[in-house]
Amino acid sequence: MWIFLGLQIIAQLAITASSQWLRRAIETGKNTAIRKNLWMMAEASSGIIWAAMMLDVGTLIGGSDAVLTTWVTILVTMVVSILLAAPIAGIAFPLLGGFTAAGVAGILLFDKDFSSFAQMALIFMCVALFIIAKAVNLQAHKSCRDGIEVERLSQRLAEELRRTSWLSRHDSLTGLLNRSALQDHIGELGDMHTPLILLDIDHFKQINDSYGHGQGDEVIAAVSACIRETLADTAPDALAARWGGEEFIIALPGCETGADDIAERLCAAVAKLTHQDWPARLRVTGSLGVAHGPASAFSSTFKSADSAMYEAKEQGRNRVVSASEGGGKAPRVPRAA
Ligand code: GH3
Ligand code: MG
Ligand code: MG
Repeated sequence: MWIFLGLQIIAQLAITASSQWLRRAIETGKNTAIRKNLWMMAEASSGIIWAAMMLDVGTLIGGSDAVLTTWVTILVTMVVSILLAAPIAGIAFPLLGGFTAAGVAGILLFDKDFSSFAQMALIFMCVALFIIAKAVNLQAHKSCRDGIEVERLSQRLAEELRRTSWLSRHDSLTGLLNRSALQDHIGELGDMHTPLILLDIDHFKQINDSYGHGQGDEVIAAVSACIRETLADTAPDALAARWGGEEFIIALPGCETGADDIAERLCAAVAKLTHQDWPARLRVTGSLGVAHGPASAFSSTFKSADSAMYEAKEQGRNRVVSASEGGGKAPRVPRAA
């Protein structure tokens, strides 16, 4: 009896370990054949050990009533196993196969007290239960797989939704906000003083023409990373966006003073940009225009910053011009804000 109990504990540990191993294989889509066989062997061993324990208990009690009690216990255990193990484990029928094998052998070999009718009835019930268990388990196994598949699909869908919603608000090359996301943010600021800085990379067409579009993209990405790093130090609440092509816009909500300073720092940081993989002669600079105004007057502040930025181009590039210092007054073809 104690030996059977010890064996049963080992069998249960083996079932737990192999079931987790199998579940991992199903979840990761790996080959499940070996793990499934191990699981089934562990389940079958447990069933056989249970049946043997029940027989042992019956023998201890003695008498045909005790033997009948043993068989009823076995059958009840089998039914409970089907109901409990099947939906959870998915492959519980080997356990019942073990019961059936042990039960049929027990009935034929040991239970001489039973009439042949009782023996046949018990064998029939064991086999019937085994068949039912197998059907229930196949169904449970399928639902288990379907459940995992549905979970996997919903995770992928959620991930895809996150990605799409991020892409609808950001520029994929630079990771900065896109134009409409920035305008949405600005729209929420009401009359808050919100200086704007426009940054346009100088002679960018030449970079494309001389080193190729791939290099041009790398420069755009490097400039945006430089903007992000500089703002992280100087204006963590700033909103930075890629306005289009090689043009960037930085909004500084609530920044009463210091916008020109931040623009100067950005200009200096861009001019220092370099990379070990870039051609030695490649130089990157930007022209920046700064303008002040409330967020609610975004369009007119943008126009002033744009004019200031073009004045910086005219003054020789790689510099900052502030509309508040008289810059950006030069008439130029207006652009949509
Ligand atoms: P300026 O100093 O006056 O600003 O001259 P520029 O050459 O920088 O300006 P221009 O408007 O003549 O050229 C901008 C170029 O940027 C033209 C366009 O092909 C290129 N461009 C726009 N978007 C991208 C992009 O995403 N990647 C790359 N590689 N090039 C781009
Ligand atoms: Mg431009
Ligand atoms: Mg340019």
